Amino acid sequence: MYNPRSFRAEEFISHTEVMETLEYARQHCNDKTLLAEILAKANRRKGLTHREAAVLLLCEDPTVTEQMYQLAHQIKLDYYGNRIVIFAPLYLSNYCVNGCTYCPYHAKNKHISRKKLTQEDIVREVTALQDMGHKRLAIEAGEDPLHNPISYILECIDTIYHIHHKNGAIRRVNVNIAATTEEEYHMLKEAGIGTYILFQETYHKESYEKLHPTGPKHDYAYHTEAMDRAMTGGIDDVGLGVLYGLENYPYELVALLMHAEHLEAVHGVGPHTISIPRIKRAEDINPEDFDNGIDDDTFAKICALIRIAVPYTGMIISTRESKAVRQRLLPLGISQISGGSRTSVGGYDMPEDPEDNSAQFDVSDSRTLDEVVCWLMEQEYIPSFCTACYREGRTGDRFMTFCKSGQILNYCHPNALMTLQEYLEDYASPHTKEIGEALIQKEMQRIPNAARREKAIAYLKEIAAGKRDFRF
Ligand code: SF4
Ligand code: SF4
Repeated sequence: MYNPRSFRAEEFISHTEVMETLEYARQHCNDKTLLAEILAKANRRKGLTHREAAVLLLCEDPTVTEQMYQLAHQIKLDYYGNRIVIFAPLYLSNYCVNGCTYCPYHAKNKHISRKKLTQEDIVREVTALQDMGHKRLAIEAGEDPLHNPISYILECIDTIYHIHHKNGAIRRVNVNIAATTEEEYHMLKEAGIGTYILFQETYHKESYEKLHPTGPKHDYAYHTEAMDRAMTGGIDDVGLGVLYGLENYPYELVALLMHAEHLEAVHGVGPHTISIPRIKRAEDINPEDFDNGIDDDTFAKICALIRIAVPYTGMIISTRESKAVRQRLLPLGISQISGGSRTSVGGYDMPEDPEDNSAQFDVSDSRTLDEVVCWLMEQEYIPSFCTACYREGRTGDRFMTFCKSGQILNYCHPNALMTLQEYLEDYASPHTKEIGEALIQKEMQRIPNAARREKAIAYLKEIAAGKRDFRF
């Protein structure tokens, strides 16, 4: 029985509801009146239900797809402006007891090198990340109660927040670890994490169980209900995502939107972020072994559809994707990207170790952070290192209210520009600095509130004089 308010995975992600939705979409995807109504609703920034989104997804009319792209672009500008938030993943440990068939960290892989960062290693890794200019990390670890217990994760978070090297500081640590108990989520909240991210991988229960044959992750309900435990445990911001390529994408997209609707219905706040990873080649993993890979056109459509269906959510694309794919998706709703990423354990401090095979997946975009920042600015995006909301307590429903309130140009815009100025002063190459300073000059004029603009200009002068960490 489908019930978005239920706490049981099989009720809020009802298989029957997904199948009926897809059947409904197949029957209506050429209904021009309905398509126009759905696009009009999206245009009113009302978001879309999973049924409405499914109709657009299955519609193959290129003019409808084009309208979706334009809407996605405009909605992204309305909610997030031309800012792109920058982050980096930090792999703490690749010990894992699970058997995920698409991930090289699976327990049966005996030829990958297993590593776990010590606290001293973390100081070296984070110092290297700070020297690149990063302020926001997503920490990642396999599931292993012996090697990676919650006490280890908490210790790592504490270490990261206390590393201050030159002008560097990590101001927000997002966490991507296995589904756990409400009590442990509460501990993560107390440790001051930003977003708790957990990819569902696939919402299709039967496939899920085949893809996760062994280990605690085999339990579909425990994994799917994790976000409820996280939010009940006090975590305000959660990040969803499926791994495209494991199951057929219409099923995944409908179920993902049902999950977002469930969080909104039960906790009053939807997903803070939605990631859109695709399965990639890695040690012991060949993406061609999986039948449901999606091409770039479909990927672009999924991206645009998520943006118009869940207009307030942050959307993340990682260095799994190439520069060309990232460039294509940026105008379709992406608001966060990783830059200069290493997906191996210890990869920042020793990036060129030829013996290392501890990466979770091959990176398709291997540019440095400076190159990514410059590339964004050349396209008139503002790379943002801002973490003000988290540090001002604007999380969960307060963040959503803020995000929906249209205060982007008075708050986010100057905050992003000030953090960019910090980056330019401390880390940028001369070429990047030159482009960035011209962009900041121009973008400052777009702050509507005159007093706020004057204050921001004064802060910029203080940043140039060596002071740091201003925010609205
Ligand atoms: Fe372990 Fe996560 Fe990889 Fe699965 S996806 S094997 S849980 S690290
Ligand atoms: Fe993001 Fe908040 Fe900063 Fe705006 S003020 S850029 S929403 S962290």
